[in-house]
Amino acid sequence: LKLYIDYGGTNFRYVLKESREVIENGRVDSLNIDLIEFLERKLKSKDISFIGISFAGQVRDGTILSSPNINISQRDIKKYIESRYRTKLVVENDLKCASLAEFSVTDAKDIVVVYIGTGFGSSYISNSELIRGVDNLAGEMGHIVFKEAPFSCGCGKKNCLELFCSGVALQKWVDYYKLDCKPTLIGLKNHKSEESKEILENFYNGLSTAISNIVTVLNPSLLVLGGGVIDSNLDLIDFIKEEVVKNSISSSNLKIKHSTLKNGAILGCELLEKID
Ligand SMILES: [Zn+2]
Repeated sequence: LKLYIDYGGTNFRYVLKESREVIENGRVDSLNIDLIEFLERKLKSKDISFIGISFAGQVRDGTILSSPNINISQRDIKKYIESRYRTKLVVENDLKCASLAEFSVTDAKDIVVVYIGTGFGSSYISNSELIRGVDNLAGEMGHIVFKEAPFSCGCGKKNCLELFCSGVALQKWVDYYKLDCKPTLIGLKNHKSEESKEILENFYNGLSTAISNIVTVLNPSLLVLGGGVIDSNLDLIDFIKEEVVKNSISSSNLKIKHSTLKNGAILGCELLEKID
């Protein structure tokens, strides 16, 4: 059996497969799960030969380095599990899994993947290779410097893009200004106050700046956009297209598309087994 887990900032989803057949799957609120406890429960009751985990946080060599939106009790997951059970475990950053999945369904060799959901995630494939950097931290656009915020990012800093341009950012700002509206782009547009205008301006400004800069720096042929905030605001894709053409010098051969993968993270987990 093989177990694939998509551990996001909001949802924890898993699929248990026997060859290609799904024999069990489920979804839990991320706040209500302890990863190690979950894995040990599954490993004690089933014969699982491979575990692939897509994790919404920074990961290096099977260890969770940080997880801005998730509480984790045991960081050294790979070592912990593999030393106790006869299984192989690979854990990888969620956007790196997503870019492997997006890469597997396109002919493009230079891809930028940006998912905006709870956080702002991004990852790159250049000349068919996943860009990792020395600590597997390359590509974390959510944590580039943007502006000073009155509260901290999950990574500990106070000026990250993710504090202005993500689902969690909208929630933080609505709470900060005590606005009586839903923490969504539509909720803020309908609110029509000085504060909601400022939150929206920062969101769009951050989005435009970040994506235009990634395109200029990496010169990709394909930019894939996904994640909950994109999925529920598809007009953002047209906005990004316009901004990139306006701001980036390397957009002439660039295609921009909405992610068509229904379950990119889980597909990415399956691909982890092949590259590890
Ligand atoms: Zn940060």
